[in-house]
Amino acid sequence: MSKYVLIPLVFFCNFCFGQSREALWKRYQQGDLKYVLEQASQSADSGAAEMQLLIGRALTDSGEFDRAIPYLKNVVSARPSIDYQRAWGEAYLGVCMFATGDQKLSRILLMKCIDENITPSCSKFAAKRMALFGFTPQYRDFDTRTSGNFVFYFEPRAINKTDQETYIGRRQQAYDAISAFFGRKLKGKINYFSWASGSSLKEGTGSNSGFATPEYGIVHAAINQTPGHEIAHLFVRSRRKSPLVNEGLAVYLDQDHGDLFSQAKQLLSNGSQTTVNIHEMWNMRDSYESKTFYKVAGAFVEELIKKAGKERFLKLVENQTLENAEKIYGSDFAKMVTDFETRINSI
Ligand SMILES: [Zn+2]
Repeated sequence: MSKYVLIPLVFFCNFCFGQSREALWKRYQQGDLKYVLEQASQSADSGAAEMQLLIGRALTDSGEFDRAIPYLKNVVSARPSIDYQRAWGEAYLGVCMFATGDQKLSRILLMKCIDENITPSCSKFAAKRMALFGFTPQYRDFDTRTSGNFVFYFEPRAINKTDQETYIGRRQQAYDAISAFFGRKLKGKINYFSWASGSSLKEGTGSNSGFATPEYGIVHAAINQTPGHEIAHLFVRSRRKSPLVNEGLAVYLDQDHGDLFSQAKQLLSNGSQTTVNIHEMWNMRDSYESKTFYKVAGAFVEELIKKAGKERFLKLVENQTLENAEKIYGSDFAKMVTDFETRINSI
C-alpha cells in the first residue's frame, strides 16, 4: 500500500478512535457507567491501554472491583514509564485492593501514585483515599477490632475497653436489623472508624458530621452517633439521591429513635422553622435547620412505609426523584404528602 493511502487511513482511524474515546470519557464523567462499559468493551480499540483504563475505572466506580482488577493491572504493566495512565491505573488498583481486602497493597499503590506526582488530580484522588481508608499517620494509634461484619478502628480515648463490647454489639444488632429490612447483606466487612468526638472527626476527616461511603463500605462516625444511621447509608447505592428520602431512611433505621412524628413536631414548635413543605424539602436540605430536617424526613419516610408498604418504598430508594415517587405511588402520593403536611403543620 502506498504511503499516500496509508497516511489518510491512519489519520482516519485515529480520528474515529479519538472521537469515540473522547465521547466515552465524557459519558464516564457524567456517570453513565453502564453505557461506557457496553461501548468500551465492544470498541475496536478496547485492548488499548487508555480503553483498558476507562473500563477498569468504570467497573471500579460500579463496585465491580474483582472484574476491574485485570484491566487496571494491564494498564500498569503496559506502561513501562510513568505517565498519567499508569498513575491513574495505580490509584484505581489501590482502591480495588482495599475493597477486596488487601490493605497492604492498596496502601503501597496509593503511596506510589502520590510519590510519582504525575498529575495533581490523580495525586489528590490518591491522597483523599489514603485518609478515607485510614492509611495516613493520624490513624497510627487507633485500636483495631474485628468482629462479625465489621472491622472497627477506635480513636485513642474514644471509648474504654468495657464499653467497646456494648458499642460493637449494638452496631452488629443494627447491621442485622438493617440487613433484614433490605433483604440482603453487604459484600465484605464494614470498615467502621469511630472518632472520640464531632470535633476530632472534623479535624481528622474534614467533615462536619459522620458519613458513609457505600462504594467502599466505609463509615466515619463520632462515638456518640446512633448505631444504625451510617450503616443504613451503606445499603443505598442509588445515583439519584434525595436528601429527604436518603436521610429520612437513615433516621428511620438508626435503631435509636422513639416517636419520630412527635419529635419532629416538637422541634418545629420550638425552632425558627414552623412549617413543612415536602416538595421543597425533597431536594433542598440547606433551607431547613439540620436537626429539624432529619426528624421530619425520618417521620415522612416512616409514614410512606406504614401507609404504602416497604416494597414500594424500596423502589423509591433506587431512584429517589419526585417524578419516580409520583410514578410509584400514583395519586396516593399527593394525598399522603398533603395529609402529612396538614398534620405536622397543625398547632
Ligand atoms: Zn446521613
